[in-house]
Parts: sequence; structure tokens; C-alpha cells
Amino acid sequence: MIFVIAGPSGVGKGSIASALCRRLPNLWLSRSWTTRPARQGEPADAYVFVDRATFDARVAEGGFLEWAEVFGNRYGTPWPEPPAGEDVLLEIDVQGAEQVRDRHPDAVVVFIEAPSRRAQEARLRGRGDPEELIARRLAAAPEEELVGRDLADHIVVNDDLGRAIEEVAAILESRRR
Ligand code: ADP
Ligand code: 5GP
Repeated sequence: MIFVIAGPSGVGKGSIASALCRRLPNLWLSRSWTTRPARQGEPADAYVFVDRATFDARVAEGGFLEWAEVFGNRYGTPWPEPPAGEDVLLEIDVQGAEQVRDRHPDAVVVFIEAPSRRAQEARLRGRGDPEELIARRLAAAPEEELVGRDLADHIVVNDDLGRAIEEVAAILESRRR
């Protein structure tokens, strides 16, 4: 199965995805490629960090399940190669989620939202994003929500992180059954 965690930037997708992998057995988190530079303090394995030429060469080879330009950088999901018996978990933006849904109509899309724009802004700032990027990411959120709510199989509001993780874990467990 393919599970997709999508949503605007700063709503907590990454926090939820990594907690799900610790909590649920047989769930394999895909590692995306990006042309964005690593953030200060970001783990080196958060993405495969590449330059634009390397990214575009992989696009030309058909090496991505999906890819999109997000906030001026390119992000892509390599064709997943999970160990046998494991489900795939993708944490991607809504454009990528639409592409996955087109290729895999049975993929389960969980759309994450922050409880308010103000909370989303505080999370982006707390994470240390630069101010101009915060503004850009907030400005994109209303359109991402329109597309994402329409596409989603489930919408989860990440108010309290522990509670939201429980809710998404329950969705994945019930879909597996
Ligand atoms: P995304 O992957 O959607 O961009 P992150 O998982 O990086 O978002 O979360 C953005 C910031 O918000 C991080 O600093 C994270 O620790 C924090 N965060 C995540 N969920 C919550 C929550 N429920 N309440 C408060 N802060 C949160
Ligand atoms: P960030 O720069 O904050 O790590 O990510 C910016 C946005 O790109 C987030 O919405 C994140 O989910 C999305 N993203 C990360 N990896 C991928 C990917 O492989 N494909 C797509 N389409 N979006 C991605």
C-alpha cells in the first residue's frame, strides 16, 4: 500500500511521518530528493540533497514516481523500493500527492492542517525558517488547502501532536485491515 501525508508547509507532516514509522511496524518512509540547501541543524539524511543538474538528469531518466517545484526548489520521490512486505509512506506536497493519486488510484492520502494560520506561522518561525520563506509558505497555504481537501481521503488537524499522531496511526491501521 502507499500512504501519502500531504499538507502545507509547517503543519507538522514531517513530525507525524517520522513518529508513524517509529510506531507502526512494516512502514517504510521514502527519502525524497531536493535541490533545496540543507537547513542549519537539519539531519544529513533528511533528503538526498542534490544540485539542479543532478535532479534534472534523474527526471530525464524517468527516475521519479512524482516530482514538483515547491517554493522555488525541486522535490521528488524516487521510485519506491521498500523491503518485502512493507507499506510505503510518502511525505510530500499537494502537487506530488495529485501525481501519486493519478498513478496509484488506491493510494491513501491523509491531508494535515494546522489548527490556524497563526499556529502554522508560529511553527515555521519556531523551526527557524527565514522570514521571506515563512511569508511565501503561508501565502501558498490557502490554495494548497483547497486542492488538498478535495484530494484527501482523510483530513487531520494537527492541534496536539500526540493526538494527531494517534489519529493518523488509527487511519493507517484501519486501512491496512
Ligand atoms: P512540515 O513537515 O509540515 O513542514 P514539521 O514537522 O517540520 O512540518 O513541523 C514544523 C514545526 O512545528 C516543527 O518545529 C515541529 O516540531 C513543530 N510542530 C509539529 N507539530 C506541532 C504541534 N502539534 N504543536 C506545536 N508544534 C508542532
Ligand atoms: P521543506 O523544504 O519544508 O522540507 O519541504 C517543502 C515542501 O516540499 C513540503 O510541503 C514537503 O512536504 C514537500 N516535499 C518534500 N519532499 C517532497 C517530494 O518528494 N515531492 C513533493 N512533491 N514534495 C515534497
